[in-house]
Amino acid sequence: MRRPFVVIGLGRFGGSVTQELIRQGAEVLAIDRDDAKIEAFREHVTSSVVADATDEKVLKELGVHEYTHVIVAIGNDIEASILTTLLLSELGVPDISVKAQNDYHARVLTKIGADRVLHPERDMGTRLAHNLMSKNIIDYAELSGQLSVMEMTVDEHKCGGTIGALELRRKYHCAVVAVCRNGTFFSSPPMTEVIKKGDILVVLGLTKDVYQLEQAMA
Ligand code: ATP
Ligand code: ATP
Ligand code: CA
Repeated sequence: MRRPFVVIGLGRFGGSVTQELIRQGAEVLAIDRDDAKIEAFREHVTSSVVADATDEKVLKELGVHEYTHVIVAIGNDIEASILTTLLLSELGVPDISVKAQNDYHARVLTKIGADRVLHPERDMGTRLAHNLMSKNIIDYAELSGQLSVMEMTVDEHKCGGTIGALELRRKYHCAVVAVCRNGTFFSSPPMTEVIKKGDILVVLGLTKDVYQLEQAMA
């Protein structure tokens, strides 16, 4: 049986991925070439190694190919990030997630076998901008280039009406896929569901359509 997680690079991003995995009770092998980073995490992770992830021999010795998910959180050293990803891909790691520094980096990563490419700074920037555009927009995320999900509230005068009455499907080709009421989510709400004050609607649609809806709410 494969072991679960390897995190390569314990900067702010890789460090928080690691902390959260551990908090959820997962086993994590942490790798960083900086011994101070490894020292800071040593007590918390299942195992940790000071090593250069661009060294194929090292990756093989650590048995990285026996793990299911490897997260490459090397940021500034794009060359090291690409080389590490290539090696992981060649070693047959089934699920490789990589933090990208820019769009060209992202394109290379996808071509050489990254299964998931992350842009934390870009995505947080996008989310903040959407959040500030309208008081009704709570959160926004692009799922892929084409598909987006948005969390929104509705203006007070629309509370008391039904989800169907918003006509999001007809006007914006968007679907309400879940509702958060008093901190609890329920999915696939019926169109007859009456919107209560404070409800958060989770809306899914093509990015261009979600954008139209957002513009209409601003
Ligand atoms: P963050 O924004 O997440 O803090 P960053 O984008 O600024 O990180 P770096 O600080 O350059 O990225 O790299 C993150 C971590 O990856 C560092 O702790 C660094 O030591 C480690 N790292 C960089 N290159 C390698 C490598 N070849 N092998 C192992 N670890 C590496
Ligand atoms: P990110 O991770 O978001 O790419 P960063 O945390 O690595 O950014 P920098 O690249 O150092 O941070 O800075 C971000 C931008 O802010 C740069 O374009 C830089 O030119 C600009 N900047 C830095 N200092 C100032 C300043 N004092 N006034 C105006 N702009 C600044
Ligand atoms: Ca950074």
